[in-house]
Amino acid sequence: MKRGAKAEKILAILEETYQGSESALRFGSVFQLMVAVILSAQTNDQQVNRITAELFPRYGEAAAFAALEPQQLEPLISSCGLYRSKAKNIIAASRLIMEKFGGEVPSTKEELLTLPGVGTKTANVILAVGFGIPALAVDTHVHRVANRLGLADSKTPEQTEAALTALIPKEKWADAHHWLIWHGRRVCFARNPNCAGCPLNALCPSRVIVKG
Ligand code: SF4
Repeated sequence: MKRGAKAEKILAILEETYQGSESALRFGSVFQLMVAVILSAQTNDQQVNRITAELFPRYGEAAAFAALEPQQLEPLISSCGLYRSKAKNIIAASRLIMEKFGGEVPSTKEELLTLPGVGTKTANVILAVGFGIPALAVDTHVHRVANRLGLADSKTPEQTEAALTALIPKEKWADAHHWLIWHGRRVCFARNPNCAGCPLNALCPSRVIVKG
């Protein structure tokens, strides 16, 4: 089967399985989404939600974060990994948003990538989830699952993004990102994927055959 036709079948099954699954991160604005995504590196979404449930009522927008010093923010986010560099980046990004972008998170990839702590994946999540602009963010789950399924044959998340955006229609990019993440979290685990219970196993070149 050609890659395009196979991708179509895989997407249809993923859609049926994970329809309605959205970002597990909680946020009330694009700025808060940016902070939550920065905090989520090497930290699970539930832990980020616990932190932001306390944080956002006190410091909700860029102006409030821009006025902080890292020593003030660090204790509030210290239960997530890499909290020192995250505190530094969130404050620096907030200051830049205040100085250069009138207090609003910018809505182009080029501008987003100028913000400290915002890499390609974070920028794509902000575009797709925050602004509804087609973008396909590739995190560790999307990268692993796409390669196992043969939708990509790539070494880096950037190459996976290029492969997936070439295969998947633009209007499905944001949803496909969520579906692939949920499939990686619930079925196609990094270690011991549940191939026997996977709805994609007939289409997957990486499936582990379980002998009965
Ligand atoms: S068959 Fe196995 S390796 Fe392939 S997508 Fe499903 S769980 Fe992942």
